[in-house]
Amino acid sequence: MNRTEHIRDTDHHRMTMRTSREVRIRMPALADAARRFDCTAPAVIDPTVYSVLRAVWHTYPRAAANWRSVISPVLSTTDDRMGLNAGIPLLDETMIQWEAAPLQQQHRRLLRLFRSPPFSDLEALGDLLRLLDLGPDEQIRWARLYFRAKTNDSRPELLFGGFIIQPFLYAFARQVLAGFRQEDWRRKHCPVCGGRPYHGYFHHRSRHKILICGRCQFPWTVPRLRCSFCENTRQESLGYLYQDHSEHHRIDFCTACRTILPITMHPESDSPFPLHDHLVSLPLQLAVERKQHDA
Ligand SMILES: [Zn+2]
Ligand SMILES: [Zn+2]
Repeated sequence: MNRTEHIRDTDHHRMTMRTSREVRIRMPALADAARRFDCTAPAVIDPTVYSVLRAVWHTYPRAAANWRSVISPVLSTTDDRMGLNAGIPLLDETMIQWEAAPLQQQHRRLLRLFRSPPFSDLEALGDLLRLLDLGPDEQIRWARLYFRAKTNDSRPELLFGGFIIQPFLYAFARQVLAGFRQEDWRRKHCPVCGGRPYHGYFHHRSRHKILICGRCQFPWTVPRLRCSFCENTRQESLGYLYQDHSEHHRIDFCTACRTILPITMHPESDSPFPLHDHLVSLPLQLAVERKQHDA
């Protein structure tokens, strides 16, 4: 099927990923994803940080409604497959219309949000709020920085850039998922935007390992016994840690490239919200990082 047609027709359906062994992980619509934040913050999260995330994600559905004018439609299916087979993600920087009005609208939406109480009074947001006084063209630079960033970079410019571009990437990824053939891609980076995984799942029936992209949240399957970052398969350098009272969460680690990846075992629904599972596993992530550092 021509992917362009698929994109046009599936807007109101849940986007589902399947492989021959019936792995399914859905990406909820952005409005559904935003509503997941309406529950109480996980106990390990600073309530201020959580309230910022909640407010920001509630701006995403409106932004994402205009994703097509920010991201050019994907090429023909044949061209896509050729790129994917060569390990090239679907999106590169040239396919994003950095000057597009919806990007600027999202920037203004965020400005209004952060300049209104209670956020404008929060000292904890100091660096972020000071950034907002910079010139109006800066948001494009930040969004580009976010798109290019290879690793976990916590500079506030990148954080803000992510809040601007992420809803468009998410909406695009969700459209791609509907027609995506998982067997075309077994790589360590995201087939949609080239981002690195930030969370993983083991599917409860198939036992597939599913990685979630840290930028666009796209899910893709990878071999189970392989490092998700350096692709090494030597069992002596791979391992995982978990806590007896929390068997749903574990942290995979690789001593060859010194990385960790939080994994949620058997997600309860086939439409999980990776960000929440990621936040819940933060204490265990920190414990494993400390252990690696001391080793
Ligand atoms: Zn991605
Ligand atoms: Zn590794």
